[in-house]
Amino acid sequence: MKNVYMDYSATTYVKPEVLEEMMPYFTEKFGNPSSFYGISRITKMAIDEARERVAKALNCGMDEVYFTGGGSEADNWAIKGIASAHKNKGNHIITTKIEHHAVLHTCMYLEKNGYDVTYLDVNDEGFINLEDLKNAITDKTILVSIMFANNEIGTIQPIKEIGEICKERNVYFHTDAVQAVGNVPVDVKEMNIDMLSLAGHKIYGPKGIGVLYIKKGIKIDNLIHGGAQEKSRRAGTENIAGIVGLGKAIELACDNLDEHMKNMTYLRDKLIDGLLKVPYTKLNGPRGDERLPGNSNICFRFIEGESILLSLDFEGICASSGSACTSGSLDPSHVLLAIGLPHEIAHGSLRLTLGAGSTVEDVDYVLDTVPPIIERLRNMSPLWDDFLKKGEK
Ligand SMILES: *Cc1c(COP(=O)(O)O)cnc(C)c1O
Repeated sequence: MKNVYMDYSATTYVKPEVLEEMMPYFTEKFGNPSSFYGISRITKMAIDEARERVAKALNCGMDEVYFTGGGSEADNWAIKGIASAHKNKGNHIITTKIEHHAVLHTCMYLEKNGYDVTYLDVNDEGFINLEDLKNAITDKTILVSIMFANNEIGTIQPIKEIGEICKERNVYFHTDAVQAVGNVPVDVKEMNIDMLSLAGHKIYGPKGIGVLYIKKGIKIDNLIHGGAQEKSRRAGTENIAGIVGLGKAIELACDNLDEHMKNMTYLRDKLIDGLLKVPYTKLNGPRGDERLPGNSNICFRFIEGESILLSLDFEGICASSGSACTSGSLDPSHVLLAIGLPHEIAHGSLRLTLGAGSTVEDVDYVLDTVPPIIERLRNMSPLWDDFLKKGEK
């Protein structure tokens, strides 16, 4: 049996070059960067170098890069920090129905605390409507938070246009770019982005480290209070090895971006084309350049995503239904419901996401393995039986 990992959107392995740069910071280079002796200067310099690498990758200043404990923390900070710092101007936040839970649940929390949140609809491919966004902005709006690329169905939003609208209307624009960085070009200046979240473990760096880019001059409250780290904006002794790893990972990702995109797009399209040959299937999300290069998400009608996952696991294939955060619960994915899938169809979805370790052989193995599984599961499915007897309802 082969072992095939196709869940790169859930997390990635740490690249060997990344781990190698991190290692000394667990052992001999362990000094607290806030102290005043030789080994502390070494760690302080290492943080500065990582910050410079992140700044180069995003096209921003080093003083606009803040390290956090991951993507979720960066999202929480951006939203709660702006909400509390600007509550005198207004209490209205705009986001979408297809955000990651780190954004959605933060917004729901704020709703319970006196804020108004507009959750923009998306169309059947997962795109927001720019007119809807314009119409939703009021003089009470303090923040627009719209994800760069969706982690379930791969939809890449028109970020530059969204940034322009927010700039014109004088509203801060935050984007969760956890899935975008390292997979598509990201440029905070060109795209008018005020705040951006990213995470180490989605780009072949370590888990538990992330970044919030905050454009210079933006007033934002702290999420974590304490010491003077990160220019007194994010307290806590730095996760040096994590920071060094993220710095190396983002540099590798940018150096290699064109080739990575080309490879992923080729494998993705081969995978999607092959899977769509199974009858009664549907691709979720768009095709082409507006889809994340490594993302596929397919509905197989008349069966449950969970049962596909179990069978795939048995064949050594790691995949997910919806997102890792929703698998484990029996609710269908909020993203699939938002693009208009009925509950029973949303349940039968399979997400296969490719990454740097993926090969043509992996894709071929999946394409050989999935169709017989679908056939077997359908033969056991009462829904399929009904459909064969009665035809389309
Ligand atoms: C993974 C992910 C997050 C959360 O990042 P963590 O580092 O796991 O906290 C947030 N947003 C998106 C789009 C993600 O894919």
